[in-house]
Amino acid sequence: MSFVFDPPPQPSVPVKGSGDFPVRRVFCIGRNYAEHVREMGGDPKEASPVFFTKPADAIALNGSAIPYPPATDNLHFEGELVVALGSGGADIDVSDASSHVFGYAAGCDLTRRDHQAKAKKTGGPWDSAKAFDRSAPVGDILPADEAGDLFNSQLVTIVNRKTLQDSLLSRMLWTVPEIISALSRQFELKAGDLIFTGTPEGVGPLTIGDKVEVRIGHLPALTFFVRVGQ
Ligand code: MN
Repeated sequence: MSFVFDPPPQPSVPVKGSGDFPVRRVFCIGRNYAEHVREMGGDPKEASPVFFTKPADAIALNGSAIPYPPATDNLHFEGELVVALGSGGADIDVSDASSHVFGYAAGCDLTRRDHQAKAKKTGGPWDSAKAFDRSAPVGDILPADEAGDLFNSQLVTIVNRKTLQDSLLSRMLWTVPEIISALSRQFELKAGDLIFTGTPEGVGPLTIGDKVEVRIGHLPALTFFVRVGQ
């Protein structure tokens, strides 16, 4: 094969210890914590979790300075557990789902909240709200066998040393195996897929100069900065 120009670089995330995890797709789940559904004006009994995606090259690594995105004045952080798949398949049983997990990371689902509010109102697509450049900061991946009991871990988002999100992963409406199973009934999952598993309550706006940290259990912390846009 002779490409007419150089193919883009393969997006990847460092794995704690050694190596890099090549990213194939980035899936996300919305409305997976009841208190966050409520703070967005929804009813968790009526609004079940939803799936959306981001491009693989939307990831930004730990330590990044992310330019404030264009075309918005309401950029929000959403601290989230990220699941990294080492294998995949279709129609995966909940009981078998954990065997496909390579590891876990701390992540942030950056959101143009103004675009999302408009899309919800008009029934339009969520792409410009969720899938913009560098909208998926993700920390280094910890292999699953070193992650311990994440179910009872705390998820904390700190902006400029102020704790704005503080929840337990056990408050997820759909557990990690349930998310993998449900996703695999809509998409064939493969090694290299990342899944952002939803955010708890406490989301809020970011401004230029902010330092954001997402800490989950003893996963490597994610730190990034918001800098002036181009
Ligand atoms: Mn989210």
